[in-house]
Amino acid sequence: MLSASTRAAQELMLHLHGQYFFAIGAAAKFGYADHLASGAKTADELARLTDTHGPTVYRLLRALGDIGIFEEREGHFANTPQSELLRADHPTSLRPAALFLCHESIVTTWANLDYSVKTGKPAFDHVYGTGFWHHMKEHPDVGPLFNATMASYTSSQIEAVLDAYDFSGIQRLCDVGGGQGRMLAAILAKYPKMRGILFDQPHVIGGAAPTLERAGVSARCEQIGGSFFESVPAEADAHLLKAIIHDWNDEDCLRILEAVNRASKPGQKLLVIDAVVQTNRAPGNTLDLNKMVDLVMLLFTSGGRERTERDFAALLGASNFELVRVLPTQSPISIIEARAK
Ligand code: SAH
Repeated sequence: MLSASTRAAQELMLHLHGQYFFAIGAAAKFGYADHLASGAKTADELARLTDTHGPTVYRLLRALGDIGIFEEREGHFANTPQSELLRADHPTSLRPAALFLCHESIVTTWANLDYSVKTGKPAFDHVYGTGFWHHMKEHPDVGPLFNATMASYTSSQIEAVLDAYDFSGIQRLCDVGGGQGRMLAAILAKYPKMRGILFDQPHVIGGAAPTLERAGVSARCEQIGGSFFESVPAEADAHLLKAIIHDWNDEDCLRILEAVNRASKPGQKLLVIDAVVQTNRAPGNTLDLNKMVDLVMLLFTSGGRERTERDFAALLGASNFELVRVLPTQSPISIIEARAK
């Protein structure tokens, strides 16, 4: 006879084996959450609205209901707080991320995790024969989806960042690798006297205009394309690096930080926003999203990883910055304030 703890372990393991994110991706693709915004509907009604197969819509949404995404009430499905986040028009929508995670290139890379575990090298490069950033640039079926996914993750962190850090005093902030401007737009909207420079690869910057316009900050935000391995804009009095350092190995991080340092006057601020791995907690035993993000870095980047405060202090020290303080936020990321020496 199985012990109660083995049975509980089995049940948990079998749940974790469930391919939930594929089900989430399919629900996002057909926009069921959008159609439920106006009220509960039957699976057949949803199927008619989305040109999908009624009995199968029922099976899909019923399975997702098990983990709180949609709920079934007397033959009708309704949104839950989780499924609301799949709506395209939700201010912190995770719909792009749900679609991106089901993209073939992402799924295939995860299917090669064993390669990364054996070698410590990125499965993505192994499968596609090129680096992630180059692939995103060359493949319009997934590159824009990646940019939208970053914007969607960033949206869910904006409030926490704005609550945790007082940006006043900065006159011109340059967001280095700022993607399509979601974070910078939110900061500029909160600080109406601040000006911004959005810096990223030219093909990424090209898609930033709608975000800046929606936030009403276009007139205060310059957009500059380039590579942070060469140089970054020097007209700013502070730089921001959000979700950049974790993408790169130490050597590449130093090149980026040195470029920022060359563009900074002594005493000038650098804000690094990234996960800071906690070393004072039992490392293997707490639920921490950043540990999965760390695996994403393993699979998709050449030596990117989540780092500890000590790692950040060492990188900053080696690139002529000093770490001033680390501010936790209500989200899984922290704000590391540094000063150019
Ligand atoms: N800071 C944004 C985007 C992070 S994703 C956010 O937090 O949402 C990493 C970003 O680095 C992408 O937008 C990517 O286009 C950019 N990037 C990658 N290589 C780059 C390079 N060589 N120069 C400038 N930006 C680069």
